[in-house]
Amino acid sequence: MQEAQIILNLHGIGSPQRVLEPGEEPYWLSVEQFQDIVSFAASRLDKVKCAFTIDDSNLSDATIAGPFLARMGFSAQIFVLTGRIGQKGSLDQIALRDLIDMGHSIGSHGNAHRDWKTLDEGELVDEIHTPRKRLQDLTGQTIDAAGLPFGGYNRKVLAEARHAGFKHLYSSDGGVARDGDWPAGRTSLRRDMSPARMHALFDPEPLFVRLKRRIKAEIKKRL
Ligand SMILES: [Zn+2]
Repeated sequence: MQEAQIILNLHGIGSPQRVLEPGEEPYWLSVEQFQDIVSFAASRLDKVKCAFTIDDSNLSDATIAGPFLARMGFSAQIFVLTGRIGQKGSLDQIALRDLIDMGHSIGSHGNAHRDWKTLDEGELVDEIHTPRKRLQDLTGQTIDAAGLPFGGYNRKVLAEARHAGFKHLYSSDGGVARDGDWPAGRTSLRRDMSPARMHALFDPEPLFVRLKRRIKAEIKKRL
């Protein structure tokens, strides 16, 4: 049987230390919201398999999210924007090392935070191939996972990511992810979600919701 899990996607935690992009603010959780959902996930691990990923390489990955997730027994995938490494409010090379030492893995989120499905050939190289190499050089680790910026993908993006050497790819399509899903669906947590709503993500989805989600993903894969 294929192993199923829910994958919860985080962004910044607490107070941003940089100027936010338009539309980004709703994805920043308070420290309390973040700790509540991670604690809840840890308490349910015997019933529901759950993993965490973090996008955008904010400084809070290293100061808040990474340490707490490690303490609660989670190894997260940290998706890094190479264009922001060392900038104010973002992870630098030392912070990347700290996160690896905490037991987390580094993956790519591209270079300049662009939706990969909007890019031309040259830009695909800049955003998919080059950041992977740069992260491998910086960390000394094999970088085999990528978090799709804005969850955007189509047939070309999936082929290019495969060609670049990625083994795991994560969308923002929600639902339950199974081993081998390409891309694997994640649910991005937002500040306007109540604790009850976040906890309900651990309940099984009705069959028709699951089917609708699968069909939508299959269509995007073929576009
Ligand atoms: Zn992002």
